[in-house]
Amino acid sequence: MDKKDIVSFGYEELLLEMERIGEKPFRGKQIYSWLHEKLAEEFSQMTNLSVALREKLEAMYEIKKISMAARRISKKDPTEKFLFELGDGSMIESVLMKYDYGNSVCISSQVGCRMGCRFCASAIGGFERNLTPSEMLGQIYRIQKLTGERVSNVVVMGTGEPLDNYDNFLKFVKMLSDSHGLHISQRNITASTCGIVPNIRRLAKEGLQITLALSLHASNQEKREELMPIAKKYELSEVMAACDYYFKETGRRPTFEYSLVKGVNDGAKDVKELVSLLLERNCHLNLIPVNPVKERDFERPDRKNALALKNKLEKNGINVTIRRERGSDIDGACGQLRRRYADAKKEK
Ligand code: SAH
Repeated sequence: MDKKDIVSFGYEELLLEMERIGEKPFRGKQIYSWLHEKLAEEFSQMTNLSVALREKLEAMYEIKKISMAARRISKKDPTEKFLFELGDGSMIESVLMKYDYGNSVCISSQVGCRMGCRFCASAIGGFERNLTPSEMLGQIYRIQKLTGERVSNVVVMGTGEPLDNYDNFLKFVKMLSDSHGLHISQRNITASTCGIVPNIRRLAKEGLQITLALSLHASNQEKREELMPIAKKYELSEVMAACDYYFKETGRRPTFEYSLVKGVNDGAKDVKELVSLLLERNCHLNLIPVNPVKERDFERPDRKNALALKNKLEKNGINVTIRRERGSDIDGACGQLRRRYADAKKEK
């Protein structure tokens, strides 16, 4: 019989599960605290449980292993990138960015991705599988243990589409913000989506306080379709309406992400369209000069042009920033370290 993934049990679920196997509810509390507060990686570390109970747990459950396959520390800025190997040999990556306000971790939500955005390194190898709640949490837990520093912010902007792994993602958010675990404020959690409309609407009704980041990347339907295949399924107007709905239901102002691609979406017409799309909306626009991916030939605009574009948007009343680049010397951008690793393996 397969062992159950114990770290994916929510707090209440774990208490019920322990009752089901004949243990007192407070044992469930102790075990949850070992797993989600003390971040234990072995049952043998749970020293306030009897040896018999630890052996019983060992036989029935597993604490899924997340081993570090590589760690790269940037020389340019306080950023580190981690390549983790999961129990089945899958590779995922996570990034730690240190800021004045705290440590932020960017996690992956799937192994690979099936959204196929043209400029994205994660799309190249295709989709492998969803991550479980424990594997999403595990990235944060491992980084917190490895660095010995508290993680205060989490962004789900690594490989994968969180809203294409809805149930696991939702559970992950609830567990990450649970007061019995790391208790990270939902306001410090951001999830980025390419715009899966029904699930944005569903998320709006979950009673959460997380920030939604919408990958916009184009100011009209035609151009968006060229860059993001998912746009064919969910039209720009529907996506914008879903974001408005998210704001109305949660009171959380959405962020729009816009990867700047030279000669593709950085012209005067793009600026004009962006202004009319966003002006009436209470939102924030984040410009990300596209990270060149070796398999693709997209280029970023010059710094000067990016700044000029930002200024024009600002003059027209848009709340806009250019994302500060981090970890460019350590394959910091989405899926790049993982791709490099996959290429190196092929060559062996
Ligand atoms: N699937 C989600 C989250 C993962 S990607 C989404 O689509 O939003 C996180 C962000 O990085 C998205 O806005 C994505 O479009 C952007 N991105 C992907 N590849 C990029 C690249 N090469 N340069 C700049 N931004 C990129």
